[in-house]
Amino acid sequence: MFYTAPMLTYQNLASQSGLDRADIHALFGHLGGFGRAWLIAHGDDPAPDEFVARFNVLAERRRNGEPIAYLTGEKEFFSLPFSVAPGVLIPRPETELLVELALERLPAGAPRILDMGTGSGIIAITLAHECTGARVTALDASPAALAIAGINAARHAPQVTLLLSDWYQALGDAQFDLIVSNPPYIEQHDPHLAQGDLRFEPRSALTDEADGLAHIRTIVAGAPSHLHGGGWLLFEHGYDQGEASRSILAAAGFSAVQTWQDLAGLDRVSGGLAPASRAG
Ligand code: GLN
Repeated sequence: MFYTAPMLTYQNLASQSGLDRADIHALFGHLGGFGRAWLIAHGDDPAPDEFVARFNVLAERRRNGEPIAYLTGEKEFFSLPFSVAPGVLIPRPETELLVELALERLPAGAPRILDMGTGSGIIAITLAHECTGARVTALDASPAALAIAGINAARHAPQVTLLLSDWYQALGDAQFDLIVSNPPYIEQHDPHLAQGDLRFEPRSALTDEADGLAHIRTIVAGAPSHLHGGGWLLFEHGYDQGEASRSILAAAGFSAVQTWQDLAGLDRVSGGLAPASRAG
């Protein structure tokens, strides 16, 4: 009679990890390509040693707080899978509001769209994917971010133009029908920067190292000369930055200035119509 060494089953491995179900499903899916129901049917199967080893490395990193999206290299946004890595902010569901508002305001035909501070590219690429006629430019000051945006553009919308630029600097006199941005808007001393996933995300994608509104002021100030008259500027901001954002927009001559709430009922996006281009 043969002696069979006791094997670790997938279910044992999952239970021993101390991770919650969502994390276990995400890591199993990443390592084995298994869907969410897979563990129910195969929980008593023995897990191969190599799977156990790779799972345990990722589980340890997760227990130390690393965001699950950096461990799997993937995050869904607007029903599309995007590649993510520690060089970019992890997509947040509330940013879908910005995409929805932009889609509702796109002029017909082949609108020109600019996404400022694109990071992993989710906003620009989702807009280009939803509106295939759009001519979309996505800029970022981080070469690492643009490399990841390039991977995502290749996956979903290769027609997107990527540009290395510190806000408007490399744009010349290019003009657009719509400008969107999810800039770094967290105030420099906000305690959230030292908590949760944010500890692992690029600080430069989260905070302006000032009052949280510095990049919003820069984006609003430059928008009129880069928007066709009547073009929309829409940007994401913090739950407590709606009033300040509207003031900045109104002072720059924008009309129809408004703030929209995310699914949690929090102020999340503000925007307005660009003043008519100045002559000369
Ligand atoms: N919404 C993010 C957060 O609060 C911040 C994203 C940003 O600064 N653009 O975690």
